[in-house]
Amino acid sequence: MQERKHISYSEASLFMRCQYAHHLRYARGLKRIQEADHLRLGSLVDSGLEKVLLAHGRGSPEDVCIQLAIGRIDAETDAYLGQEHVSEFRNATPPEGGPTIYEQAMALAYKAKTITRRVIAYLELGTDKWTTLIIDGKPAIQTELKCDIPGSSKHMLGYLDWVATNREGETYIIDFKVRKKRQSEEEHHNGLEDDWQLPLYAYALAEKGIDIKGVAHLNIYGQVPKQPKRNKNGTISQAACDTDWETYAEAVRSTGGDPNMYMKMREKLDAKSWINWTQRYITKHEREFALVQLAGVGIQMPAPMPSRTIFPMTCRMCDFQTYCRLDRQGYNAENLIGTEYFIKGEESSLVNIQRMPVVEGDRDAAEES
Ligand code: SF4
Repeated sequence: MQERKHISYSEASLFMRCQYAHHLRYARGLKRIQEADHLRLGSLVDSGLEKVLLAHGRGSPEDVCIQLAIGRIDAETDAYLGQEHVSEFRNATPPEGGPTIYEQAMALAYKAKTITRRVIAYLELGTDKWTTLIIDGKPAIQTELKCDIPGSSKHMLGYLDWVATNREGETYIIDFKVRKKRQSEEEHHNGLEDDWQLPLYAYALAEKGIDIKGVAHLNIYGQVPKQPKRNKNGTISQAACDTDWETYAEAVRSTGGDPNMYMKMREKLDAKSWINWTQRYITKHEREFALVQLAGVGIQMPAPMPSRTIFPMTCRMCDFQTYCRLDRQGYNAENLIGTEYFIKGEESSLVNIQRMPVVEGDRDAAEES
């Protein structure tokens, strides 16, 4: 196999987590698709936001930015549905009776549009709160960034979601994170502390003479507010519900009720964050340390005898744990190589995904270990 000259951050961090997992993914071609909808939601939101930020940088008013974002999300959804392997089956009823591919895609697009609108409001784009930085003559939005790996002929290719300067003149690298679950403040902060990707990008930008003050995550909860339930007497239930106050108040109004009578509910719902901003300053030492980590990966890669980490916390989150367990137990799992597959409950209705075959000895034995 021809050696690739560039690696991505996700490849480097996978290699650091487990060389064997890296070997399965990049040398053997094993891919696991799990929570694919969530992953596609992230990319739909990213492309909507890219449009918004570019239009905002050109001075477009907020409503134009929103329309452009919606147009981009619709176009990407159409392109997905138009793909040969999808279009043939888009309206087919899945055997398990779930939503069709078309319905899933539409639901996802709706979600992405709702989330993108929320982010636009959160960023206060109509104000001078943030100004997009210009790098090499272009706005730093979804920008490719190259970083040479010391001691190696390879380089790392990264993508900057957004680099922007605040009113105080401080420039931040900002990463959009669409999250499936709500996280606590502490989890958000830990996520940013553990991240060496953004400090590495800060290093690469410093090499271009750009002074980065800090890094930030825009944590976006990847759900749309649920409709609260109606009680038998026609009022709106005050039971816990993953919604926001606007949706709840609208539901109350639709029954002829007065939202002002539900102030306790408002307190509860306002306490739930749908978007969270985490930022921190970054020192020269941290930037350089991130480069040292990357250099370590560059020197070791590719590992001639890739070792397995086998650490419970790492393995639990590993995309390849099923293959790895089967392999360790002596089952022949070679037929998974080169395929894409689900693990959890085989819930896929996407037709191009080969299901995880049941190997003799059964899945249960594999899942137990
Ligand atoms: S399950 Fe654990 S040992 Fe196996 S590839 Fe994944 S991280 Fe490595």
